[in-house]
Amino acid sequence: PGATGLTGSGQPTTLGVMGGGQLGRMFVQAAQAMGYFTVVLDPDVISPAGLVSHYHVQTDYLDQQGLAQLLQRCAAVTTEFENVPAGALVTLGAARPTAPSADAVAIAQDRIKEKAHLAKSGVPVAPYAVIETAEQLAAVADDLLPGILKTARLGYDGKGQVRCRNRAELAVAWGSLKGVPCVLEKMLPLASECSVIVARGWDGTCVNYRPQLNLHREGILAVTEAYEGNMPLALADQAVVAAKNIADELNYVGVLCVEFFVLQEGSPEHAQLGGLVVNEMAPRPHNSGHYTLDACDVSQFELQVRTLAGLPLTQPRQHSASVMLNLLGDLWVNEATPPWDKVLALPGVHLHLYGKLKANKGRKMGHLTVTAATAMDARRTALAAADILG
Ligand code: ADP
Ligand code: MG
Repeated sequence: PGATGLTGSGQPTTLGVMGGGQLGRMFVQAAQAMGYFTVVLDPDVISPAGLVSHYHVQTDYLDQQGLAQLLQRCAAVTTEFENVPAGALVTLGAARPTAPSADAVAIAQDRIKEKAHLAKSGVPVAPYAVIETAEQLAAVADDLLPGILKTARLGYDGKGQVRCRNRAELAVAWGSLKGVPCVLEKMLPLASECSVIVARGWDGTCVNYRPQLNLHREGILAVTEAYEGNMPLALADQAVVAAKNIADELNYVGVLCVEFFVLQEGSPEHAQLGGLVVNEMAPRPHNSGHYTLDACDVSQFELQVRTLAGLPLTQPRQHSASVMLNLLGDLWVNEATPPWDKVLALPGVHLHLYGKLKANKGRKMGHLTVTAATAMDARRTALAAADILG
């Protein structure tokens, strides 16, 4: 399956996407740049992707009529968020090339299944225990504490997670998460965090970007640093191999992001696990790959279009050092527009806004990518931009 080809004469091919957030919007924009028509399925009237797509099917993700309308319009379907109900992807996959597959998304949606899969990558996962019953809670090994209790499903941006220092806190935490299935992970001493984005085609061809270094604030990605030397080369190579293994093992088609922890040297956990631990995966383009729009010859969204359409994949080349800053709703406090004119007066600054009409605290409204000839220049400009934005 797969090859849906390029726009023909008179009859443009239409590509579909489940979800209308910013990732869907940037997919739509990449597809349109290559001549495709697009259709977005999202219940929201004013979703970022729906606003720029040729067609918008405005129903719930499991609405049979909505799915039928989407299928009627499009030649192939992708997804922009991992919590698309797997049932919807099963329906779509039966009728059209659908990438990633329902199976791959179902694994990424569930931390319990995901951990078991990631453990096959050649890089260890954090020591963990599955907690679905009171017995499992009681049987937790002491050396998993202090730890982080994470809901198996529906967590993102640090939501659905509670840090626990001891057994008493763990019991309270599981109660506060309503006793849903969880994993308890040992708290690891992190030196840094990175992610690797790969794209894998229907024929198994797999291309990748080099690892990005990611800084989070309050559980939300704040800064991505993408340039040579952002992390030790041996660890970077190891992360790329692991990410490709994960994609191969799943027979994955599409863009996949794998997140890793880099452990502090000299810590007992480093001695036990090594320098790199695999954390989680996202079956789609990722916030940490937004710099590829401006700093690489092929972006993660173009790779998503190419994989979906069965077009050739070539190894992307990064042509500029880059730092990406997320723009959260907090910047719009007091309804004032941030000083874009001052930020854009800096060299190599690219402003991306997602067309969201309401700026809430912590909401991802857009991002800034700085591109420069050297890492030092990119960092300096990013610091200046962050200073202006306050
Ligand atoms: P989310 O789905 O919210 O991104 P993650 O599992 O990636 O959930 O956790 C969010 C953040 O919490 C991570 O980026 C990391 O900073 C921190 N974190 C998660 N697990 C651990 C751990 N086992 N040890 C130390 N820090 C962790
Ligand atoms: Mg994460």
